[in-house]
Amino acid sequence: MSVPMVRARAVRKHFGHLEVLKGIDLDVRPGEVVVVLGPSGSGKSTFLRCVNHLETIDGGSIHVDGELIGFEAAGGRVRHLRKRDVTRQRREIGMVFQQFNLFPHFTVLQNVMEAPVGVRGERREEARERAYALLRRVGLEDKAKGYPRQLSGGQQQRVAIARALAMRPKLMLFDEPTSALDPELVGEVLATMKGLAEDGLTMIVVTHEIGFAREVADRVVFMDDGVVVESGTPADVLDNPASPRTKAFLSRVL
Ligand code: ADP
Ligand code: MG
Repeated sequence: MSVPMVRARAVRKHFGHLEVLKGIDLDVRPGEVVVVLGPSGSGKSTFLRCVNHLETIDGGSIHVDGELIGFEAAGGRVRHLRKRDVTRQRREIGMVFQQFNLFPHFTVLQNVMEAPVGVRGERREEARERAYALLRRVGLEDKAKGYPRQLSGGQQQRVAIARALAMRPKLMLFDEPTSALDPELVGEVLATMKGLAEDGLTMIVVTHEIGFAREVADRVVFMDDGVVVESGTPADVLDNPASPRTKAFLSRVL
């Protein structure tokens, strides 16, 4: 058995008195696509943010590719990671948000090249060539010289995906990547993500797009109120949910 790409065990997180994650267990194997479903406020974004060091956890453990992320509070022992390890780990995990947050004064190409050159120290020519290849992969090579405001929301989100890929992540996290898009633009972003899945990228995708979950996910996880309620194949969870909470949620979104 290979090392899991993500191994979360009994992950807990609270904000003040609000307990948001109440013991999350989740494994993601290399190359696996896991879709996380759940009502608003169930802790989906917080969980992704913990995996990517945007939040620290209060208990349990998260490993990415065998390496500890954040804290490990098992046995009352709290371990802090060194800052330089955190920085390196964060570079190896790509994240795509609902809001694309492209740099408005940079061209599309500059948006994709910025981190490889500025953060990874890649040579400009090399980074440019690779940025073009990534823009080709998301179907936007012809927009390389354009600016974000000249693009549709769907195109901007595809640039954001190319930008994340430019850092050569071993894991990609998507937090409702199509929720801010007009309905007619959702499909092109999902198609791009499907392509990445087919290329073998390991992905955790928070989305309400049930069709995408059915078609692309290896596994579907349903979260509610800070816990994983159930997890299984898309057919298991979507067509034959075990929990009444999953049933109730699906009847609202389907
Ligand atoms: P989801 O992504 O499933 O909608 P979130 O992880 O965003 O859920 O939020 C879970 C709960 O945590 C919500 O009640 C939210 O208001 C709360 N929350 C999230 N981030 C913070 C924060 N930085 N400070 C306080 N409360 C937060
Ligand atoms: Mg969220």
